[in-house]
Amino acid sequence: MDIITNTKTFIEILPPEVALVAVSKTKPVEEIMQSYEAGQRIFGENKIQEMASKWEQLPKDISWHMIGHVQTNKVKYMAHFVDLIHGVDSLKLLKEIQKQAVKHNRVISCLIQIRIAQEETKFGLPKEGLEELLEASSFFKNVKIVGLMGMATFTDDKNQIADEFQILKILFDKTKTTYPEMKYLSMGMSGDYEIAIASGSNMIRVGSKIFGARNY
Ligand SMILES: *Cc1c(COP(=O)(O)O)cnc(C)c1O
Repeated sequence: MDIITNTKTFIEILPPEVALVAVSKTKPVEEIMQSYEAGQRIFGENKIQEMASKWEQLPKDISWHMIGHVQTNKVKYMAHFVDLIHGVDSLKLLKEIQKQAVKHNRVISCLIQIRIAQEETKFGLPKEGLEELLEASSFFKNVKIVGLMGMATFTDDKNQIADEFQILKILFDKTKTTYPEMKYLSMGMSGDYEIAIASGSNMIRVGSKIFGARNY
């Protein structure tokens, strides 16, 4: 895997309005540095302690995104440096992010993860719950909801993926009319980022197409 070439290629082919989150979970800091040297500054991780350890070791102009499911009791390990939390799906989690953000005198940006996949998954808020969560979030002064995140079903059926992304895009556009601070629509990964961009995504999360397959 040529991480430098892969990173440069993504930076070049993406439309300027689409942000690239390079998903570096399980990858060592040396490989992240290769992508960094190719110009990448946003990295995504799905385990909080792993992200914190990498944050300590790597240049401080990196923007760290938490893209995985967040356990409430672990928010404290990232509250001092995380730039964007993609997977917020409950009031309980928002409350904890607010509490930890206050401790560090920060405002933490978050995306609400909406469940769009038809396949069974525990994560993400049903779209019917979005309005209530947004209303509640207005009381949390140290949390800023800046967009939505979603994951399509893991399938080869491109039409199904496009349909699921479309549902999120419509919800995003509708929500933006009342909440203008909603800026980011995070959808698309290595296997489906082209469909996601065609469906209106402006933030893609790409791991294996940059760093190669993960060996867990
Ligand atoms: C791992 C992961 C990605 C990246 O997956 P690839 O298929 O390797 O691009 C994107 N989003 C989330 C939430 C992930 O957990």
